Parts: sequence; C-alpha cells; structure tokens
Amino acid sequence: MKVEVINTGTELLLGEILNTNFQYLSRQLNKLGFDVLYQTTVGDNAGRLKDVFKNALERADIIITTGGLGPTRGDITKEVLCETLNLGTYLDLDTWNRINNYFCKRGLCMSGNNEKQAMIPVGAEILTNEVGTAPGLAIRHEGKLIVLLPGPPSEMQHVYEKQLEPFLINHFTKQGIIYSHIIRLRGIGESAVAEKLDDIITSQTNPTIAIYARRGEIIIRITAKCMEVNEAKTLIAAMEALVNTRLKQFIYGTDDETLASYLGKELLRTKSTIAFAESCTGGLASSLVTDVPGSSEYLLGSAVTYSNMAKHKLINVSEESLEAYGAVSWQVACEMAQGVRELFGTTYGVGITGIAGPGGATEDKPVGLVYMAVADADGVKWAKHVFGGTRTDNKMRSALTAISMVIDRIKEKETENKDK
Ligand code: ATP
Repeated sequence: MKVEVINTGTELLLGEILNTNFQYLSRQLNKLGFDVLYQTTVGDNAGRLKDVFKNALERADIIITTGGLGPTRGDITKEVLCETLNLGTYLDLDTWNRINNYFCKRGLCMSGNNEKQAMIPVGAEILTNEVGTAPGLAIRHEGKLIVLLPGPPSEMQHVYEKQLEPFLINHFTKQGIIYSHIIRLRGIGESAVAEKLDDIITSQTNPTIAIYARRGEIIIRITAKCMEVNEAKTLIAAMEALVNTRLKQFIYGTDDETLASYLGKELLRTKSTIAFAESCTGGLASSLVTDVPGSSEYLLGSAVTYSNMAKHKLINVSEESLEAYGAVSWQVACEMAQGVRELFGTTYGVGITGIAGPGGATEDKPVGLVYMAVADADGVKWAKHVFGGTRTDNKMRSALTAISMVIDRIKEKETENKDK
C-alpha cells in the first residue's frame, strides 16, 4: 500500500516550525508495514493544494493530510478536497454538539466559525477528536483512502492513535511490520564500527543494519520487516548477538537508553554520588543527568560557575590559577572538579570549562576548546577537547563527553581496585 502524507501550512514552508507531524506519522505507518513513499508540504493556498491532491491521487493508495481543519478562512484542506473530488457536505449534529460541549466545558461560547468544522463531506467516516475541535475524516474514493487529520501535533497524534490506527488495521489486510532495535556504543568511531561490521553490512537483507554517528555516541540500528513482531524480534536477536561478539566492549545500551541513564546506572551500582561545576555548558550536563528519573539518588548538587568570581567564591578555584592560566585551562577544570566535590561531599566532582563560541577565542584558545576534569578520592584526571562546532553543538558535546569521562573513571577505578 503506497502512502503519501501531505502536510499543509505556510509556517512549515517558511521554516518557522518543524514538520514533526510527518515524522510521527511516517514512524507509525512504517511500523504497520505501510510504504510511505511520498511526502508533500504545501502552503495554505487552494490552487496549489488542489494540484497536490491530484498528484497524490495518481501515485498513492492512501493519502493522509495534516492541518487546515481549523475554523478560519485560511483553513481549507477539507474544502479543497471536496472541490477536487466533487463531494457535497452536510452539517453533522453529533459533531456540532461535541464541539459545542468542548467550549461549554471550558466556560466558553462556540463561535459561528466553528460550525465550519461540523460540516462533513458526504460519505466520510468521522474520526472523533476528543482533545480539540476539528474531527479527523476518512473518505473512500475510487479505491483510494483519503484521511484528513488536524494540524496541532497533540490532536493529530490523539486522533491517529485512538481512531486512525484501529481503522487502518481493520480496513487493510495485514501489511506486515517493520521493527527496529538500536544498539548504542561509546568510545569507538563510526568508521571503526563500519570496518568491524563490513561483511555483515555488505551481505545484509533482512534484517538490515545501519550505522549513525550521533553526538558522543555511535548508533547501530537493526531493522527487520516481517509479518509478526516476534518473528522480527528473533531475526534481530540473532543479528544483535553477532554484533555483540565483535563490539561488546563498546556497547553501553539499547533503544531509549542514554549516556546519562547509563551513568546513573553505574553510579547506583557502585553506590556513588556526583556533582558538576559547569562553566561553558551552563548546567547542561546536570540537566541531562536529571532527565533520568531517580537521579536525585546520585546527583547531590551542581554549580553553574560562569564567571571567575563564581568559580572562586562558590567552589574555591584559586584566584592565582584563574590569573595565571585563565578560566579555560586544565588547571582551572581540575580545581573546579575538586571544589564542587568538596562543596557537595560527593564521590565524584566534575569540572567543565571551555569556549562555546562563537566569540571569546584567542590565538591559542580556539572556539570549541574545552577542558574537563573528574575528581575523586584518589585525585583528579583531566582531558582536553577541541570540538569546534556551533555554540549549541559545543555545549552538548562537552556535556556528553564529560558524562562519558565519568563512566570511564568509574570503570577504571574498578579495574584499579581489582588489581590492588
Ligand atoms: P487549528 O484548529 O488549530 O487551526 P488546524 O487543523 O487548522 O488546527 P493548522 O492551523 O494547520 O491546523 O495548525 C495548527 C498548529 O499546529 C500550527 O500553528 C502549528 O503550530 C502546528 N502544526 C501544524 N502542522 C504541523 C506539522 N506538520 N508539524 C508540526 N506542527 C504542526
């Protein structure tokens, strides 16, 4: 079954908002085994939308639109589709009542404009929207299915989940499923991973295997296309076992795990606690760590020490070091790590100081230069990195690399203790 998704809205074409509706729909539809082959974005213009509908009707079996179902004159998706297919509309009293109740419950009055949303194309099936006003619509026309969904992502997802997905499952013979599993690695580069899996990648059929470099980690995605989830899981498990034999020491997690959640597990396992002193990352490392539920067990506190004064007054970085080496130096990173560890009485203290950019660089200290240090009872270790990306990039890479550095330190200490 060939699917085309049409996302309407001039905001999308202007780049003001990201097309998250398409990302959501294509993921869900692929999971059900539908082939999403085309995606078109079109502004709120009747002529162009009509052309888009005509094209889609020629090349796809299922057409799904998002947006343009609102109450205003600019919301034209349903009207243009009716004109294209030559369909009449009628006022659906159930939908009118539902919209009226929606407003009453909020102590508001339904405006005359909203009546437009209760106008239903003849023969359309209503996909009730319980979280907004515009209903979704499913229209069968000359062997094709055309589905109209509201634009606001929360409404679109709600109508998809509660109405459209069951509708698709009921009305189409099983398409099979596409099932993916992600393996996450750290401490190894993309090309080294590709080299180790080269023979598997060249001979892959089902499941397929793909490698991606993300900030601070490498991702291996294994994807199987089968009729049943269990069949896909079996194929994927065999491939995962093969990947494991070659890359086991670099694998830290799967699927939704993150470096921060892995750090959390390691801190819990070793009954350790942590505190961050952050300069160029502005609290991002602590934020990533606290994204993990239960992180209060091990993150005792952090300090955003952006200025020299904060570094000195809050975490005791010496004025001499700041003066002699500058705030972006390994000496200051080490003192930050030690200072914050002392302040919060944690097992590990982490210091991050660098030049996020775009300004602030000097001849010997370029944008993206970051020093980070991890202090514990045995002393302090530091590292120097030059990331050289955008400001946001440098902040994220610094935070993730610091998290990874603590993981390394935890493992190193375990080996040291074993050797003692
Ligand atoms: P409304 O009743 O709110 O007018 P609608 O069905 O007419 O709903 P739109 O007006 O097209 O939908 O979109 C409403 C809002 O939903 C947009 O301003 C935008 O914030 C968000 N939105 C629309 N389409 C998308 C999309 N493809 N991806 C992400 N967000 C979107």
